[in-house]
Amino acid sequence: MSSFPVIRHEMEYVCTKCNAHHSIDELLYTCPNCGGVLLLNDKDFDEHKKISGKKWQEIFDERRATNCQALKGIFRYYEFMAPVLEEEDIIYLGDGHSPVITASKALREDLGIDFAFKHEGQNPSASFKDRGMAGAFSYLKSMVRRHGWSNILTVCASTGDTSAAAALYGAYVGDPIKTVVLLPEGKVTPQQLSQPLGSGATVLQIPGVFDDCMKVVEYLAAHYRVALLNSKNSWRILGQESYAYEVAQEFRWDMKNKALFVPIGNAGNITAIMSGFIKMKKLNIIEELPRLFGVQSHHADPVYQYYHQNRENRIYHPVQVKASVAQAAMIGNPVSFPRVQKLAAEYEALGGDFNVVQVTEQAIMNAMIIANRNGHIACTQGGECLAGLVAAKEQGKITHEFAILDATAHALKFAGFQEMYFENAFPPEFGVIPKESLQNRPHTIIAKERKDALSYEEFVEETAHNIAQFMDLAQK
Ligand SMILES: *Cc1c(COP(=O)(O)O)cnc(C)c1O
Ligand SMILES: [Zn+2]
Repeated sequence: MSSFPVIRHEMEYVCTKCNAHHSIDELLYTCPNCGGVLLLNDKDFDEHKKISGKKWQEIFDERRATNCQALKGIFRYYEFMAPVLEEEDIIYLGDGHSPVITASKALREDLGIDFAFKHEGQNPSASFKDRGMAGAFSYLKSMVRRHGWSNILTVCASTGDTSAAAALYGAYVGDPIKTVVLLPEGKVTPQQLSQPLGSGATVLQIPGVFDDCMKVVEYLAAHYRVALLNSKNSWRILGQESYAYEVAQEFRWDMKNKALFVPIGNAGNITAIMSGFIKMKKLNIIEELPRLFGVQSHHADPVYQYYHQNRENRIYHPVQVKASVAQAAMIGNPVSFPRVQKLAAEYEALGGDFNVVQVTEQAIMNAMIIANRNGHIACTQGGECLAGLVAAKEQGKITHEFAILDATAHALKFAGFQEMYFENAFPPEFGVIPKESLQNRPHTIIAKERKDALSYEEFVEETAHNIAQFMDLAQK
């Protein structure tokens, strides 16, 4: 059975802006020379080429059955992510290997397209953010071990799920790590807020939106000794690459005629997914890159606006976000945009196809409700992917491909938007009008006063009769 790999490589941060290289032996989030965003580079990556693509497939396929705890989660693909960590550093809380569920027959027939959801809500804190946190916390743990740090404060700004994941991993690791999360007051759902509170993190709120929180934690990280856990932290990107490896493995390493749909917020996830596929292509683990579609709401679409322009003279502008049900992706100035630019160019140079589609708030909500009425557990961002698939098909961008939609979090985290839909209670700024046929409400089948007036046996009998009548049941 697989034991922990023995190979160790040298890694370094590389600046996406000035290309400077920096040691990974310090906590770095931006380039000290120019302030650019960083990516992690495996200096010995080419060593991996000594092993054939076929052999790598076998290694990972065999590792599916491992009993080694450190390799059970996202680090099944250890060699491609962080071959600098020791087994004792790795934190596994059940992250990764989320199920890929073929869309229900009715749903596929209705839309006239074959597709599946990858249900990322089945990660431990109920979103894909756990992948990145497993990466970031494992690295942090290795730093604590090697430097003998006696206390370390982690901070993150969050649209909800990052803080839930950070607080969970922080709580598990415990001493000397303490977790602080910074949230935009009133802009995370009650379920998401309950998560860091329940994990015992210090929860701070400020007025504003995510972009404001991000500015504050960036200032903190630049001036104080704290560990930043936003996706600016490139160890999170590495952890999130696992999504790409899992998708490839799930489809037997065959990405021909596959199209992935991923919601874009701060753009960390799409960056990680591109990076993962690029590595697999370079190592001949996959023959073809899948087509990749980022999806953004028209209320928060800076990446769409950029890629929508003529290729020759694209200019990037942050946008002012408007109210969005895809609240976890409601970001006007994505931190990872420079990473997307760099990797999308590389993706295309390797023969891949990168697109961004735009969808309406209305389409997102309808799609989420429809997905869940068909046995899926899509959050609003999962709905965004489905809406993106429908838009791509309408625009003729998807014809025969099999699509894999990233349902990035559990539906329960966004139950409030479902309720607004069912109760027709969206504030006007969302611009969402529910479809009556998709609304659902509980029915009171017997009045309280009636119950009080009856004996218990009569109550049971009358209630059963009412149900039979309501549902038009036949007598036995
Ligand atoms: C964070 C998040 C996103 C956006 O991902 P980015 O990496 O910020 O682009 C989408 N959906 C959910 C549920 C999230 O938590
Ligand atoms: Zn730089």
